[in-house]
Amino acid sequence: MSAAEFLPSKMTLPILQEAVQGCHGCELYKHATRAVFGEGRPRASIVLIGEQPGDEEDRHGHPFVGPAGRMLDRALVEVGIDRSTVYVTNAVKHFKFEERGKRRIHKKPNGTELKACRPWLEAEMAVIKPSVLVCLGATAAQTVFGPAWRVTKERGRFVEHPWAPHATSTIHPSAILRAPTEEQRHAEYAAFLADLKKVHAMM
Ligand code: SF4
Repeated sequence: MSAAEFLPSKMTLPILQEAVQGCHGCELYKHATRAVFGEGRPRASIVLIGEQPGDEEDRHGHPFVGPAGRMLDRALVEVGIDRSTVYVTNAVKHFKFEERGKRRIHKKPNGTELKACRPWLEAEMAVIKPSVLVCLGATAAQTVFGPAWRVTKERGRFVEHPWAPHATSTIHPSAILRAPTEEQRHAEYAAFLADLKKVHAMM
């Protein structure tokens, strides 16, 4: 299965955004509220790629509007990157979760789902043609750079990629929120800021 057959022949962000709502390229559309497509300027110089929409993103229909998104916003402001100048998206467009009581708990997308959804990401990149690509977390990084990519080892390093001349990876902001102690959260956040400062310098 793949999203490829659901892609429109004319590629603009608004057309893609509408078309993704009809995608049945994998099973994830069955339980999510809606597809959450990327958002931002059509000619954004920076594209940030996360893993998948979370609970709040699924409810509201916008990427990075939950706790991790607020953490990202704060970090972007601190390093001087205006979020309105970037495009944010995810490797997978539907929320994958399991229900525990009334809560919907995030479940990591598997390789089949990531592969199935890749045509949407490819289409976004083909339209935007960013200068700088930033993968947030291992899932996005391995989708873009391949399964051998290790964010812990490669974070902050820039390489050339067919989608952008400068591509890099760092942690997903949700990893900062999950750090078990206040001290570790501070350390993770400081390292995240250091990676984003390199992105700012690359602009
Ligand atoms: S996750 Fe991606 S491939 Fe799967 S149904 Fe949603 S948009 Fe299509």
